[in-house]
Amino acid sequence: MGLLNALNQWRNTRYENHVTNMKEQNKCPDCYGRGFYPFSANEFVYYAAPYECPGCNGSGLYSDWDTSAN
Ligand SMILES: [Zn+2]
Repeated sequence: MGLLNALNQWRNTRYENHVTNMKEQNKCPDCYGRGFYPFSANEFVYYAAPYECPGCNGSGLYSDWDTSAN
């Protein structure tokens, strides 16, 4: 039981809470229901359009994220 384990446990719990919250709203946990990642221009200069979320295939729906990720 080190500090790292406690930190991982905390992060896992936070992630599970986040997924549960998103599930109640039927929003994709990866992109918060937006369907894309709003990357800043200088980090992803080769993307002309916002990067489509691979978790939900751009739909932003939890149901799509659930079927593709699990
Ligand atoms: Zn998504």
